[in-house]
Amino acid sequence: MPYRYFTLEQRANLESLIRSQMIAQPGLAGTLERLRTPDYGICVRCGAEIPYVRLMELPAVEYCATCMGSEQML
Ligand SMILES: [Zn+2]
Repeated sequence: MPYRYFTLEQRANLESLIRSQMIAQPGLAGTLERLRTPDYGICVRCGAEIPYVRLMELPAVEYCATCMGSEQML
């Protein structure tokens, strides 16, 4: 299955980050599932690639900064 733009190392880093945060946030289990699909890291609204550094801060984020700002999701 092709992934959009993460390197294997980046994906491994994201997975370990999510696993460590799952202890406090069980809802991240769904994020871990999405990480295994090609859609992870892609804005669900506009399809833009969400920067790796942003995902490392907010691994569960589903919107790019533009859409997040326009809809004030957080
Ligand atoms: Zn977007």
